[in-house]
Amino acid sequence: MLKNLPSTPQTLINWKWEEIEPHYTDLAVRSLTAANVEEWLTDWTRLGEHLEEMYARLALANSVNTADKEAEQRLNKFLDTIFPAAMAAEQKLKEKLLASKLEPQGFEIPLRNLRAEADLFREANLPLLGEEKKLAIEYDKIFGAQTVEWEGKEVTLTQLKTTFQKPDRAQREKAWRLIAERQLADRKAVNELWQKFMVLRAEIARNAGKPSFREYTWQQKLRFDYTPEDCKSFQRAIEAMVVPAATRIYEKRKQALGLDTLRPWDLTDGWYSRPPEPPGLPVLEPFKDIDELKSKTSAIFHKVDPQLGEYFDTMLEEDLTDLETRKNKAPGAFCTSFTSIRRPFVFVNAVGTHDDVETTLHESGHAFHVFETAKVKYIQQLSVPMEFAEVASMGMELLASPYLTRKDGGFYTEAEAARARVEHLERNILFWPFMAVVDAFQHWVYENPEGGSNPDKCDSKWGELWDRFIPGVDYSGLEDVA
Ligand SMILES: [Zn+2]
Repeated sequence: MLKNLPSTPQTLINWKWEEIEPHYTDLAVRSLTAANVEEWLTDWTRLGEHLEEMYARLALANSVNTADKEAEQRLNKFLDTIFPAAMAAEQKLKEKLLASKLEPQGFEIPLRNLRAEADLFREANLPLLGEEKKLAIEYDKIFGAQTVEWEGKEVTLTQLKTTFQKPDRAQREKAWRLIAERQLADRKAVNELWQKFMVLRAEIARNAGKPSFREYTWQQKLRFDYTPEDCKSFQRAIEAMVVPAATRIYEKRKQALGLDTLRPWDLTDGWYSRPPEPPGLPVLEPFKDIDELKSKTSAIFHKVDPQLGEYFDTMLEEDLTDLETRKNKAPGAFCTSFTSIRRPFVFVNAVGTHDDVETTLHESGHAFHVFETAKVKYIQQLSVPMEFAEVASMGMELLASPYLTRKDGGFYTEAEAARARVEHLERNILFWPFMAVVDAFQHWVYENPEGGSNPDKCDSKWGELWDRFIPGVDYSGLEDVA
């Protein structure tokens, strides 16, 4: 049994490699037999859980406040020292288990995954993988710091996007252009970051003997069941089947709004999502503050299933959420997990829209997955590919949708809830073409590293894909900013 593992979050985030290394050495030198393999795997799991949680906590502290210098230093120090050393130590244990030829019960899939990971491992990539994580932090920092002045107040871009839901089209356009200008001001910094990513990723792939970063990442993400060619045929299927349906949704809304063309500021996210309600219908305002978001979401989950309601309440009681948007918070939403205590943490940038309700339901779905897998014995059995992880989260959006009304403790009148459901289903359709743009772009980037490293060529490829998959929105004259 391993002793002296950190027992509080505070000691965990200050863990030092000198304290961690002996545990790895112990596992590496122990003899491994059918009789003790379960104990050995249990110890490896406890060690791995603590390290995973350490990283999750350090990364989260940085996302919660991207301007917190101390959090950033702590995370960088982890990435510079502990991360590469732990990856190398993990590799030794993987090789040891594989060499033993032991096949513990319930380990068929973990062994397949470990083989793929061990095969991809290169000592030379250790500093580069840490470097890559740091570039991603840099990216969050740039976007986290973006604010604009709106009606005399400093607001985040996420906050300003609520304007896209309002009926006043001139205001929407003004807000959209303000956001675009603010993002353009960081164009140089983002382009430089992108180029650094491309150089670094090409080197990582080369070191591992892969033709491009796509092939590297394919194995690293443990994609055994489909190929890049399958992705392309999926893109073509979206183009043939979903794009016409999405275009009909845009067309219907354009007519309801009485517009000649649908511009990006006529969409509720200013990008590809749903147009706002026609004039006369009030904007959905599900909650006034975060406490209301929390209590109503809790009520909804209790209706879906009492156990899920309890999980959600546990997260609130144990302070495992950060839901409101604010300056210097990383953009987006995610669910992370504290693996040693088998608890999730949900991160959202809520401003008061229906989207925020959906996002909170979605991320909570991931969180319930963490609760439900708390009893899984070995850390290697916990790895969930993102292709499946979304089943829990997107499933939760749909399972919760019958309970959005006030009579179930939710946010809306019957009529509003019906609108919210239509909005949700339409948004799902509109998401597919966008997903195809992102996917096709990534394939193009890694198949054409030269063009992919050139920001101008990337911009024109992005525009070309946008025209192919999202023809219902008129971006003319905005090629530079969109
Ligand atoms: Zn998700």
